[in-house]
Amino acid sequence: MKAAVVTQLGQPLELQDRPVPEPSMDQVLVRIEASGLCHTDIHAAHGDWPVKPTPPFVPGHEGVGIVEKLGSRVTAHQLGDRVAIPWLGHACGHCRYCVDGRETLCESQQNSGYSIDGAFAEYALVDARYAVTVPTGVEPFDAAPLSCAGVTSYKSVKVAHVQPGETVAVFGVGGLGHLAVQYARLVGATVIAVDIDDEKLALATSLGADHVVNAATVDPVEAIKALGGADVALAYAVSPASFEQAFQSLSRGGRLVCVALPAEGTMSIPIFDTVLKGIEIIGSIVGTRQDLAEVFELHARGRTRVIAEGRKLEQVNEAIAELLSGDVPARLVFEL
Ligand code: NAD
Ligand code: ZN
Ligand code: ZN
Repeated sequence: MKAAVVTQLGQPLELQDRPVPEPSMDQVLVRIEASGLCHTDIHAAHGDWPVKPTPPFVPGHEGVGIVEKLGSRVTAHQLGDRVAIPWLGHACGHCRYCVDGRETLCESQQNSGYSIDGAFAEYALVDARYAVTVPTGVEPFDAAPLSCAGVTSYKSVKVAHVQPGETVAVFGVGGLGHLAVQYARLVGATVIAVDIDDEKLALATSLGADHVVNAATVDPVEAIKALGGADVALAYAVSPASFEQAFQSLSRGGRLVCVALPAEGTMSIPIFDTVLKGIEIIGSIVGTRQDLAEVFELHARGRTRVIAEGRKLEQVNEAIAELLSGDVPARLVFEL
C-alpha cells in the first residue's frame, strides 16, 4: 500500500510502499477513502510539541474508509461499514476519565497519526471500539474533516456553554474555525470571525458569521470591543498573540477556550483582569466518540457545510506547504 511517512522530524514526508497491516484481535483494517490534513499533522511532522512522536510514523487522524478485515474479537463493526479514524485511536476504557464521559483525557490513550500509525495511507488499522461509524448521508469527503476539525470545534463550543444571545468570537477560520462559526450559530450566538486572510473572512460570512475582523489590518481587541465584546472567545489560530487578543476581547464573565497548539506554547494572561472580570480559561481537546456521532448526525441533517478541496496523497508535502501559507480553502483532503 501507499503511505506518506515521516522518517525524520522536520523533513518532508516520504511516499513509501508498505505491506498492508494485519489487524490484531481488537482492531479493524480500514481501506481509506478520504483523509483530511489537520494542522496537527504538521505539528506532528515538525515535532513541535513537548511530547514528540517517534519516526517513522504515518500521520493522519481524519481518516474515513471501509472496514475490510476484522480482528477475531471485534463486535463493534462489520465488514463493509464506513468508519472514521479519529485522533483518539485507543483509550483504556476503565479509568475514571473513560468511565465518566471524558475519554479524551485518558492517560493511556493512543493517538492516530501520532503515537500509532494514522490515515495518510491506503489502509490503516484502528481499535474497533474507537472507530466511529459514519452514517449514510455523510459523504467520506465531508466525514474526513468532521472527524477532527468538526468534533474539536463542536466540543469547544459545548464546553464554553454558549447561551443563545451571547457573542462568540472565533479566532482563526481554518479547518476548525470554519466549522466553529457554524456550531456557534447553531446554538444561537452572534458570531464574530477573526482571521488574517480576507478570503477566510468572506468564507466565514458565507457560513453565517455576523461580523468579521481582519487581525492583520485592525486591532481585533478594539474591533470586538466596539461590537460590545465577546462572551466566548475560541482560539484556533496557531499564534500565542492571537490567544492573548482572544482573552482581551472578552466581556466580564467571559470564557476563553484554548484549542490551537502553537509550538511557542505559552501565553501571557493578566491575573488581575482574570480575577476581577471573572474570566474562565478552558482547555479543550478533540471530542469523544459520542461528540463525533453528534457531529455526523448534524451534518446528515444538513446543518453544517464542510469547505474542502481534494488532493492526491502524492501531493502531501505540497499540501502541507499550502496549508502553512494559509492560501487554502478551510481544509485539504487526500482522496485515496
Ligand atoms: P488551519 O491552519 O486550518 O487554521 C488556522 C487559521 O488561523 C487559518 O485560517 C489562518 O489564516 C488563521 N490565522 C493564522 N494566524 C492568525 C492570527 N494571528 N489571527 C487570526 N487568525 C490567524 O489549522 P487547523 O487545522 O484549524 O488547526 C488549528 C490549530 O488547532 C492547530 O494548532 C492544531 O494543531 C490545533 N488543533 C487542536 C485540537 C484540539 O483538540 N485541541 C484539535 C485539532 C487541531
Ligand atoms: Zn482511560
Ligand atoms: Zn486534528
